[in-house]
Amino acid sequence: MKIGFIGLGNMGAPMASNLLKAGHELTVFDLMQDAVDKAVSEGATAAADIPTVARSGAELIITMLPAARHVKGVYLDEDGLLAHVPKGVHLIDSSTIDPMTARDVAAKAAAQGNPMLDAPVSGGTGGAQAGTLTFMVGGEDQEFAFARPVLENMGRNIVHCGAAGNGQVAKMANNMLLGISMIGAAEAMSLGVSMGMDPEVLAGVINTSSGRCWSTDTYNPYPGVIETAPSNRGYTGGFGMDLMIKDLGLATEAAKATGQPVVMGGLAQQLYQSMSFEGHGHLDFSAIIKRYMKDEE
Ligand code: NAD
Repeated sequence: MKIGFIGLGNMGAPMASNLLKAGHELTVFDLMQDAVDKAVSEGATAAADIPTVARSGAELIITMLPAARHVKGVYLDEDGLLAHVPKGVHLIDSSTIDPMTARDVAAKAAAQGNPMLDAPVSGGTGGAQAGTLTFMVGGEDQEFAFARPVLENMGRNIVHCGAAGNGQVAKMANNMLLGISMIGAAEAMSLGVSMGMDPEVLAGVINTSSGRCWSTDTYNPYPGVIETAPSNRGYTGGFGMDLMIKDLGLATEAAKATGQPVVMGGLAQQLYQSMSFEGHGHLDFSAIIKRYMKDEE
């Protein structure tokens, strides 16, 4: 299929690579020339700007951008996609943004004859490279059926979450819970170890008991417990704390808009925010355990 791809960053670049490997023809654009050059070296065609991607003959255009303001700019500006894309071209935004913006952009696209899905991902850069991302998709049934085979070239789990914006809702709810559960894991592990428990024995008990969760059994924040976790390599790699703050911000903003209480989500956001303020925002989010370990700071 002829596909346009805009946003070749940490996630977008490997996703575009996987589409090329699957045999699709890609026309790409990014503000960073290096990112475009790399995709071209893998077989993509470079576009000079967004209108060129829109008019490249692509049947589908995918965007993978940092945040809502970039998505609004790329889709809604005078030189944006909607002003230049022919009717009938399918659109997918895989950026993580707030559901309200996703719904607004999708409604504007649909009104001019461009069906659009929101399809944020989880799985991080490792999942993007391996083609094992989870896509949480919001939009019409027939549009989901159209996009699914393409998304399967970049991901393993492709989940239809309901109408436009619901992909973002699912991602937001999951990541809020992840942010909260990591703080719980950090508190429980630190308390137990401070009172004399061996961290591996404690993790073993938790992971066969009712406290078990992904933050304890796969990504335990206490160093030395899980060999492959960022806690075992100085909290490098993994899921950056600043990205977690962004996702918790989306959840608390959405909660404000709907009047829904998210007490733990708001508290979690402030805890990560205070660590980022102290200069740790580049570390994996599980580094939040440094708040609780006396010898660590
Ligand atoms: P990134 O900052 O590495 O990449 C974004 C890219 O978009 C950059 O190359 C930038 O130049 C480009 N861009 C920005 N504005 C543009 C414009 N107007 N026109 C063309 N290109 C433009 O970000 P990322 O880590 O790839 O994340 C992308 C999205 O995926 C974000 O919404 C993020 O929250 C989400 N996400 C990231 C991860 C992760 O682990 N990095 C995991 C899951 C989801």
